[in-house]
Amino acid sequence: MAQKFEEAEKRVFDNVYVCRKCNAKNRTDNPEKTSCRKCGYSDLRKKNAQFAG
Ligand SMILES: [Zn+2]
Repeated sequence: MAQKFEEAEKRVFDNVYVCRKCNAKNRTDNPEKTSCRKCGYSDLRKKNAQFAG
């Protein structure tokens, strides 16, 4: 747990995930337990994914 928190502090922008359904940005350090704040969809992807586009 502490390890995860450390990573979160180091790379703040890595905490942004995009909903696969409505593309809303969701900031979380635990995407697996987070649902989209707009539509409630639970499948989020990292905003800075290398294969974006
Ligand atoms: Zn959504």
